Amino acid sequence: MNRIIEADVVVVGAGPAGVSAAIAAGRTGARTVLIERYGFIGGMSTAALVYPWMTYHTSDGKQVIGGIAQEIVERLQALGASPGHVRDTCGFVHTVTPYHPEVYKVLAVDMLKEAGVKLLLHSFVDEVRKSEDDRISSVILTSKSGRIEVAGKVFVDTTGDADIAYLSGAHCLKGRDQDEATQPMTMKFRMRNVDLEVVKQYMLEHPEEFYPKTPIAELPELPLTAVQGFYKHWKQAELPINRDQVLFFTGPESDEVLVNMTRVQGLDGTKMEDLTEAEEQGRKQVLMVADFMRKELPGFESAVISQVGAQIGIRETRRIEGVYTLEMDDVVAGRRFEDCIARSGYPIDVHSPKGGDVIVSWVEGDGAYDIPFRSLQSRNISNLLAAGRCISTSHEALGTTRLTPSCMATGHAAGTAAGLAVLQGTELRDLNVQGLQQALVEQGALL
Ligand SMILES: Cc1cc2nc3c(=O)[nH]c(=O)nc-3n(C[C@H](O)[C@H](O)[C@H](O)COP(=O)(O)OP(=O)(O)OC[C@H]3O[C@@H](n4cnc5c(N)ncnc54)[C@H](O)[C@@H]3O)c2cc1C
Repeated sequence: MNRIIEADVVVVGAGPAGVSAAIAAGRTGARTVLIERYGFIGGMSTAALVYPWMTYHTSDGKQVIGGIAQEIVERLQALGASPGHVRDTCGFVHTVTPYHPEVYKVLAVDMLKEAGVKLLLHSFVDEVRKSEDDRISSVILTSKSGRIEVAGKVFVDTTGDADIAYLSGAHCLKGRDQDEATQPMTMKFRMRNVDLEVVKQYMLEHPEEFYPKTPIAELPELPLTAVQGFYKHWKQAELPINRDQVLFFTGPESDEVLVNMTRVQGLDGTKMEDLTEAEEQGRKQVLMVADFMRKELPGFESAVISQVGAQIGIRETRRIEGVYTLEMDDVVAGRRFEDCIARSGYPIDVHSPKGGDVIVSWVEGDGAYDIPFRSLQSRNISNLLAAGRCISTSHEALGTTRLTPSCMATGHAAGTAAGLAVLQGTELRDLNVQGLQQALVEQGALL
């Protein structure tokens, strides 16, 4: 081993969850290290072009996600790199939050530095060491400087794939209960030279060709943020892609859109050969869809591909098996938990693992549901927390907790919990959850 780095809190994976977790842990005063395999932060947001962030609100417009997630938006706004929360013009949710990915990459690193976090990029964790059966002592990363051991007291798994949990032997879950099938992967891409005024005009003249919740009456006054439908055009094209509609979002440039339409099914995002095949299929589909849009959609006549994901977007792989597994019923009922550490108003949105559709279940009650602290705690590794996409949920409940603002919110909670546990010399299972909640609320979290 070349070198050992000592820390209190070790966060692995600098996606939306890991960035928030590391900022939060650093702010408690705990010595925090954040490890990321790529040369930039943002995870799916930047590597896979996921955009816009959705949503900070319930379907009737009440904001339910704040804290570091909101702070990031406000800092982006101050830099002119986000319009903030704006109405979703396909009507699927109340608001979406566009942002400039290149500014976000730089801003997040600034925020990590301000919180005193040591950031290690180009570092892939491939081994976990344990001191006792139920405790992780260190993780080993592979880098250009060789293999480095990072020792810590509390570990936060924000790899999206529960890599740290898996490598430590912690109980993990994957995909659907019956067959472990996961939601499809999607290669996202951007197009420029799109005439969005022409698109909007077509929507106003042909409302029946768009998602039924599209707020057509308000459309003339709203900046176009999202378009879902063009059902007739898509059906007629008969492309070999198991998808039922056109879906794109506008920005970040004024003539640019982000297209979310490719669909790669039946492959496992934790298997090397499957990932290789997914990248190949996804990129071929991008060329097909771009060609279709240019030839068939009004406003796209001069459009060109401006960016394709550095990697395919992965919606679902492994999750930790936590002290509590959040279920679909909890979400749909808008159930409240005493150990709530984050809320979300995004509906369950499961892209079918095998079919061409998306299964949606709306949140009842006040329009938001709670995420309990127990869903962040590993069932059998005492000093391990998860945040983001790999917290403990059922396949169905993941259909909502996986969205970026929720990942930022669970990251904020996990980082704060990890920092407090270290500073108080407490085991995670003995942490005073009311104290954690109070700390989160003081930092703007909405519980
Ligand atoms: C196709 C698609 C469309 C989506 N659409 C939207 C949308 O419109 N709006 C929205 O808000 N959300 C959307 N999402 C959901 C959202 O993007 C992700 O669920 C979210 O980014 C998950 O955040 P995370 O931090 O948990 O994980 P990730 O974003 O996956 O980040 C994990 C990070 O860990 C790193 N990592 C992984 N393993 C290791 C390792 N072993 N060592 C070191 N580093 C490692 C990765 O490089 C990455 O940076 C979409 C997702 C996909 C795939």
